[in-house]
Amino acid sequence: MEQKSAQDRSPRSPSLSTSDARRAIFERLSPITGWERVAVRDALGRVLAEDVIAPCNVPAHDNSAMDGYAVRFADLGHDETALAVVGTAFAGKPFTGIVGAGQAVRIMTGAPIPQGADTIVVQEATRSEAGRVFVPPGQESGQNLRLAGEDLAIGGVALPRGKRCGPAELGLIASLGIADVVVRRRLRVAFFSTGDELASIGRPLGPGEVYDSNRYTLFGALSRLGCDILDMGVVQDDPAALEAAFREAAGNADVILTSGGVSVGEADFIRELVNRLGEVAFWKIDIKPGRPMAFGHIGDAWLFGLPGNPVAVLVTFYQFVQDALLALSGVSPLPEPVMFEAAAAESIHKRPGRREFLRGQLATTGGRNIVRLAGTQGSGVLRSMSEANCFIVLPEDCGDVAAGEPVLVQLFDGLV
Ligand code: AMP
Ligand code: MG
Repeated sequence: MEQKSAQDRSPRSPSLSTSDARRAIFERLSPITGWERVAVRDALGRVLAEDVIAPCNVPAHDNSAMDGYAVRFADLGHDETALAVVGTAFAGKPFTGIVGAGQAVRIMTGAPIPQGADTIVVQEATRSEAGRVFVPPGQESGQNLRLAGEDLAIGGVALPRGKRCGPAELGLIASLGIADVVVRRRLRVAFFSTGDELASIGRPLGPGEVYDSNRYTLFGALSRLGCDILDMGVVQDDPAALEAAFREAAGNADVILTSGGVSVGEADFIRELVNRLGEVAFWKIDIKPGRPMAFGHIGDAWLFGLPGNPVAVLVTFYQFVQDALLALSGVSPLPEPVMFEAAAAESIHKRPGRREFLRGQLATTGGRNIVRLAGTQGSGVLRSMSEANCFIVLPEDCGDVAAGEPVLVQLFDGLV
């Protein structure tokens, strides 16, 4: 028999709530250093390492927010005012003259405001006749103008460091005429699956074997986050093989992800191994699925020992690992997890104690959010994740839920 570790000799090894576990993780992590300069398109999914300072105003000049007429507000009276139309201003072709008293210029959306004019009257409010436009009363001074620098002012912080770039950020950077930005280097994540029963795809299954799906799930989740990934394959439940794998991973990556081998029965020797090579900060979380999830470090590499069950892998990844990877990648501030209420379409059995993450199908029907369970909820049933579009989150103290009662849901789409 293997010797029991100190943690095992304690009456009960502590099990953390979801929020305590998240706190324990985030209080330890600090972002990786290292950066590179990339072209705007390559910044998609990357984290800004420096503030992006606006080198110009956006918009660059005062311009019209509507199609209509540029007028001098002082000309407008209490009744309908007739103005002489002296030209047209297009977005790419400004009106170069001056709008004098009693005059107006026809103007298109985005066209610079001609000199002399200060107000835009929308086309629909006017009528025109023989080179004149008739403006009804009730206009407001300065209406329908977009002022230079209103969106981004020259010299100001257009995007703060720590921002992860999505489509809007790429467009915003381009709107400033900036061709490249400084981003953090990609996080390097090594991962492997553990289990004597695991077969890699491409060969027939032997007796008692299962295909290793977790490495593909993790490949998908990590690729989508923009990590540099190191797939180390399957490692047998063998102390020497595991030690070699942990050492190699720790030498090559910022983060090590493993799946399997953390549940009762297999846990002891992995825990002892990690405690010998590094440190295990915690081992158990009060969640379902995914109760055994190890967090710690080996050398400078952070370690997340995920459960083996395929659904538990994704639950623990989304609830703990993903935000940890974002924090390590320099994302700051981290977005708060967003949850909202939906009515349970059916009753759900739950025992108080653990926080449960069920897989749900959320639909908005007649203006109401209604969520039903997405098929069989076993922690090995990956199909439930595929058929679901959200987690149904039942907090620790929650018991049975009756049909129609409100439950919290967390959309998968918001998890990326
Ligand atoms: P474990 O956490 O190692 O006890 O594994 C729990 C369950 O998940 C067992 O049924 C394993 O066969 C299964 N499992 C573990 N690793 C994988 C994997 N990489 N792919 C698919 N199933 C797995
Ligand atoms: Mg195993």
